[in-house]
Parts: sequence; C-alpha cells; structure tokens
Amino acid sequence: MNNRVRAWVVAVWFVGTLAVVSVAQERAPEPIVALVGATLVDGTGAPPLANTTVLIQGDRITAVGSATAIRVPPGARTIHVTGKWILPGFIDCHIHTAGVDDELQELADTDSLATLRSVHTLDMYLRSGVTAVRDLGSPVESMQAILAAQQSGHLDTIRLFACGNLITVTGGHGDGHRGVLAVDGPWAWRRAVRQMQKAGFGQIKISPTFTLEEAAAAVDEAKTLGLRITAHGGGVSDTTPPTMTRVAVEAGVQCVEHLNEMGDDVLDLMAEKGVYNVPTLSAYREIYRTNKVPPVLVEKRHWTLSMHEALFRKARERGIVMGIGTDGTGEMRKLYPGLYFSELKYFAELGASPMEAIVAATRNGAMILGKADELGTLEPGKLADLQVVAGDPIEGFDVLGKPELVIVGGKVHRF
Ligand SMILES: [Zn+2]
Repeated sequence: MNNRVRAWVVAVWFVGTLAVVSVAQERAPEPIVALVGATLVDGTGAPPLANTTVLIQGDRITAVGSATAIRVPPGARTIHVTGKWILPGFIDCHIHTAGVDDELQELADTDSLATLRSVHTLDMYLRSGVTAVRDLGSPVESMQAILAAQQSGHLDTIRLFACGNLITVTGGHGDGHRGVLAVDGPWAWRRAVRQMQKAGFGQIKISPTFTLEEAAAAVDEAKTLGLRITAHGGGVSDTTPPTMTRVAVEAGVQCVEHLNEMGDDVLDLMAEKGVYNVPTLSAYREIYRTNKVPPVLVEKRHWTLSMHEALFRKARERGIVMGIGTDGTGEMRKLYPGLYFSELKYFAELGASPMEAIVAATRNGAMILGKADELGTLEPGKLADLQVVAGDPIEGFDVLGKPELVIVGGKVHRF
C-alpha cells in the first residue's frame, strides 16, 4: 500500500468505527430500576395502593401499578421496598436558597459564598425528600453557576427552578437586598424580564409596589417569552397598599406568594382566573412567634396569625390551588429542612386532609412550577423524582423528612 492508499484505509476504518460506536450508543438500552413491594402514594390524591412496582428507565418512570400486574424485566436492578411507602419527591415553591442568615452577613457577602449556601440548602433538601425548589430571588450568578454545574455534571443535587433576581420598584419590597432588581416604569420592567430570560431563568417574580402598567408589562413579556410569573402578595411595609395583590391578579400573574391581607373579592378573582397561591404560613407563624412583625403592620394593618389562617381557609374553600413554600430567610434559615415539614403539618392543622397536604407538596407544586406534565405525580412518562419512606405518611407526617432512598431524574441516592 502506498501512503495515500494507507491513509484512506485508515480514514475509512476510523469513520466506520465511529459509526459503529455511535449506533451502539444509540441502541444500548438505559438500565432499568424496579422498586418492588412498597405502598404507593402517587401524588394525584388517589388512595394509597399496596404492594406496587415502579419501573424506571433512564430518567423516566415507565410503569407504575400493582406488583402482580407489572413484570420486572430481566436484568433490571431490583430494589425491594416491601413495608415502605413511595411518594413523589416534594417541591418547595418558595425559597431563597442563597439567602443570608442575618443582615450583617449580607454586607460581606459574595456570589461564591451565596452559591455555596445555595448548594448546601439543595443538598439538605435532597436528604429530606424534597427534590425540586422554586428559588424566588437569589444572586443571578449563583443561580447560573448551579444550573450550569448541574448541566455539566459537576453538581449532583435536586432540581432548581429559579427566577434569578426578583423585580421590584425603587423603594419597593426587597429593594436594597441581594437577589433583587429595582427598576421603574413599564419598559424597564419589560427589560428586567428579558434580562432574566437572557440569563437563563424560566420563572419571573415581581414584588410591590408596582403600577398596573408595570405589572401588566412584565406579565405580557413573561408570557411572550414562555416564562412563569408570580407576584409577592401584599407587602411587609406600610407603604404597600393591600390592593397590590388585586393589581397583580388583574395584570395576569399565574401565582401569588403569601396570603397577606386581601379582600374576599381578590380571592374570588384568583379562583375565577385559576391563579395559584403559595401561603408560606409557617414563615409567618415564625415571624409572629419571634415578634418580628413591624408594629405598623399589627397596629395599622391588623396583621395577625389569625388573619393568615383565615385567608388560608377562605382560599381553600374557593378551591385555589396551593403549594408548599417556606420562604425562610434570616434567622429562619436555621429551621431548614424542618420548615418544609412544618408547612405541610400546618396545612393539615388548618383543615386539609393528610392526602390533600401531600398533593399540595407534590402535584400542586409541579403545577405552580409549570411542570405538571413532567413532575409532581408518579405516572408513566414522568421524570423519576421520588422518595421511599419507612412508614405510612397518611397516618402521620413524622415519617417524612428522613427518606431511606431518594431518586432524582432516575439517579438513586441512598441515605
Ligand atoms: Zn420570598
């Protein structure tokens, strides 16, 4: 063979080998995991189903049902979970994963530190059975770093759905804190939404005090770009009129955070328009318990824990879809991951059945994320995000928060 012919032969062999390798990669079936024998709470609200099999291939659930009806394919990795309970991974709809522990820390904060706090929070949740969070305001760079590190395989933790910076007006709720973008006027609000989309985020959060024009501009822009948009309801300062929630709902937001002072008319409008709510009751209970409610809110605006509780009952009566959110900032960050389970218990204390509270933590959370077709319930075709716990969660929530096994996107984590 002369050199030119040899080069050709080598080239043809090389291309041929590549083709064989790529065909082999395409055809190699992803490994199957079978969870066999547990009682299933699938997140839809259906009664628990005893002795089930859940099949997972790659990152998806392929079969769910009675163990007598589902055959485990040969070669599957079988995990025997008889006597245990399987639930979807829980979702926290309102958290600031990179939040500071106190205001002094904020003064010396950096994006790197914020990123580490965020990773710490996500990992704490992974061990607790919470497999997705909606971060409603953290430094942009930290959120981007986490998403990029997950994408490249450098970080193996739970799902992060982030808004980047929350958007408010000059002097509005959150202005001056990290993770907050304060701008004024409808075009500035449109630009802020575009900036968050460009930065890679799929969620938008707006915070008072906004005008109807500003809120409507943000909603229009978010919907044009295919982003989810939620609003902080009411405010924590006396400058925030209680009518703010109505303005947000009229502007077309898909969700309202918190259940701060609002009239029955606003709740009616939310129910009519199918607007979701994340009440964050435990955060308020904690604020009242530690007397950190500004006196002006108590004296002039009549904020009390019973106001929050009454609004929860009214929202529930109207069938408003509510999710579990913690919003633990400052001192409250010490309460993680327990704050999540306090909120779940609080739903039940205020009249929700245990199953209803679990549905709030799972299916409703996925609806609020705009991911109901992928997450929140254990059904064939959905992403395999689930947890195995030692006892019956319907009998008592104390078995929650310490799962024996958590699966995120098909990847098994044992604790
Ligand atoms: Zn918040």
